[in-house]
Amino acid sequence: MRLFFLSLIVFFQFSFALATPVRVMIDPGHGGEDHGAQYQEIKEKTVALGVALELKKLLSADKNFVPLMTREGDDFVSLSARPEKAINSKADLFVSIHANSSPALEAKGTEFYFENQVASNEETELLANRENNSKNVKGNSVPDQNTDLENIMTDLNHHEHMILSQQLCQLLLEAFQQQIKIKTRSIRQAPFHVLLAPMPSALIELGFISNPGEARWLNESVTQYKMAKAIYSGLRRFKEKLDKTHKKNVN
Ligand SMILES: [Zn+2]
Repeated sequence: MRLFFLSLIVFFQFSFALATPVRVMIDPGHGGEDHGAQYQEIKEKTVALGVALELKKLLSADKNFVPLMTREGDDFVSLSARPEKAINSKADLFVSIHANSSPALEAKGTEFYFENQVASNEETELLANRENNSKNVKGNSVPDQNTDLENIMTDLNHHEHMILSQQLCQLLLEAFQQQIKIKTRSIRQAPFHVLLAPMPSALIELGFISNPGEARWLNESVTQYKMAKAIYSGLRRFKEKLDKTHKKNVN
């Protein structure tokens, strides 16, 4: 609750502005030999890429955005390369797209994550471990806790980064609630490596591949388009909100 009030206050005080056009790094999770979660032939890497490519199309058609991709095909990209690509291509926002899995087959719904070095509970810690485990594929390693990336963030920047990322998650969640008839679960914090990108960043778990009904639904191209559209709406709202706040602060 304290974080909630703090975030409200801080959101209106920050002068953080987004450049126009906004450069959005879209990060479809997994790829190549790293399939992510899987139910029969339905693979997380394919669902994530499907949504990512639809999102790319939507952003390309809007002059306020420039879409960038960490991968555009079924390629393996290490976890450390993903935020690096965002930095190198001067991305303003980072959106990582995944699908969830749980031993409880009835688990379903979308979840939104922003970074924290400490998982908010045991379940999110398990999820973070699972997503972070793709570092072991092909021996690519993710930097330890004290990376250069972390060291260049001052406390304030880090705090701002967290609050902005939380706001981004909130607007994405609202867009999903409005546009998609799915039980949207929550916004959570977890220590995902990809969320260390130093720009406002969100990780979306679209739904549960481990739930057979939801896996089939996620695999449909019409679902993937709807989800991409919801993400696009959330990004637009985030830009509008920041533009308004910035205008107020500089006037
Ligand atoms: Zn994943």
